[in-house]
Amino acid sequence: MRQVSAKVIPCIERAMDLNPATETADVAVIGAGAAGLLAGIGAARAGARTVVYERMATPARKIAIAGGGRCNFTNTLDARAFVRRFGDTHAAKLGHALRAFSNDELLALLARHGVEGQVERGYRIFTKSGRGSDVAEALVAELKEAGAALVCDARISALRRGAAFILEGRFGGCDERRKARTVVVCTGGLSYPTTGSSGDGYAWARALGHTVTPLRAALVGLTVEETWPAALQGLSWPDAEAALGRHGRDAHATKPLGVERGEILFTHFGISGPAILDLSNVLVASGLQRAALTVDFLPDVRREELDAQLLARLRQYPNRTVARALEGFMRMPPRLLEHFETALEAGGSPLAGRLTKEARQRLLGLLKQTSLVVNGTRSVEHGEVTAGGVAWGEIEPATLESRVCPSLFFAGEILDVAGRCGGFNLQAAFSTGFLAGRSAARRALGRIPEPTETPRSHRA
Ligand SMILES: Cc1cc2nc3c(=O)[nH]c(=O)nc-3n(C[C@H](O)[C@H](O)[C@H](O)COP(=O)(O)OP(=O)(O)OC[C@H]3O[C@@H](n4cnc5c(N)ncnc54)[C@H](O)[C@@H]3O)c2cc1C
Repeated sequence: MRQVSAKVIPCIERAMDLNPATETADVAVIGAGAAGLLAGIGAARAGARTVVYERMATPARKIAIAGGGRCNFTNTLDARAFVRRFGDTHAAKLGHALRAFSNDELLALLARHGVEGQVERGYRIFTKSGRGSDVAEALVAELKEAGAALVCDARISALRRGAAFILEGRFGGCDERRKARTVVVCTGGLSYPTTGSSGDGYAWARALGHTVTPLRAALVGLTVEETWPAALQGLSWPDAEAALGRHGRDAHATKPLGVERGEILFTHFGISGPAILDLSNVLVASGLQRAALTVDFLPDVRREELDAQLLARLRQYPNRTVARALEGFMRMPPRLLEHFETALEAGGSPLAGRLTKEARQRLLGLLKQTSLVVNGTRSVEHGEVTAGGVAWGEIEPATLESRVCPSLFFAGEILDVAGRCGGFNLQAAFSTGFLAGRSAARRALGRIPEPTETPRSHRA
């Protein structure tokens, strides 16, 4: 698991003449991650006296480690393309949020605080500085400018509804209560609990009448039956095409459940890397326990062409072992070539000049169509995101207000939505956070009518 940045971002204890310890806030936001910081900004900009409570000593730890520490915070896609590419059946529910706070607005906000993005691999936007913590700092600075308070070391343990919401918890080491007219729950999922997200909000959602759909790991490494990937632990290949299919069928030959292209990484548990993480969401959505994974290590080279090049290379070095004869071939790492040589089962270390046509065809098959049996994913704590969450049927997408508990709002990963790699999850958290915060402010200040409750039978 990656190390969490220990950089201290100062908290803002008071806002808009509100003393959160003694007075009722208009909006309380629980959790200062991507969604919570934007919820605070949205609420405070709308004029509400807003407090953001964060259990950790510093906010937004996940933003700081996102994208391998470089933070792929958004992408260049417009709202329509974003929803289409998101990779979750509930993505359409994000339309209102993406229009309320778009990727362009995020880029402009960050630019005001000196944080620039750079486009990589098509449409992904990473920090130019290579420091995800810059994004977190910029958002906290914006929160301060907007006039919200940020209280860290404040773990909320219970959320109750009365005339106002009561937030019970430990504030700076003392058990106390806080009050708020409206609450935005932004406590995240179950992934990477060392960053602070351990799923506290789900219990409150259930207690206040919400359905929480089954929680599963998403964007997570796949475990496999074969043992050889573990022997290659740490080895990555930058550009493979991986296809996931039903177990017992060749995923490339039959209609695959999903095909992804990109980096793959062999690990002690099986296989990971961006292409595999995206396929993990397909596996989780399919509900399958086992699946077939085929990997094409050289997707740009046609089989016939590869065969001709292989033959030429093997003939060039007839007295070398296959792995040695192929040294540097298509920039393949020696450990991978040695694995292929072993997997040929051609007896010991076969000499290139003695390799039969059948063995060469098997080698070709390994390069173009290595098969693995996927038997699960790593646990939810190891996923980059959590699939499942507060059910959309009980949430009004235009405001993100609860239809079963008025004045309660949800944003970010706690909602039943999990996207693919490429800045989708953070932008979804930022956008839903902003919309929920702004809506909560409008509700607290009496600017929007009470929602109508959805009968349970009508909830999707
Ligand atoms: C390793 C890793 C890399 C990732 N890389 C990317 C990437 O590059 N691009 C991308 O788009 N997405 C990425 N993601 C996913 C993305 O970071 C999350 O989807 C996003 O951060 C979710 O935001 P959130 O605000 O809903 O939840 P979180 O960011 O998890 O924030 C929840 C906050 O709530 C606080 N909290 C929880 N319970 C309480 C409580 N009881 N009281 C007070 N506070 C509480 C937590 O401490 C935390 O600060 C990555 C995730 C991981 C784990």
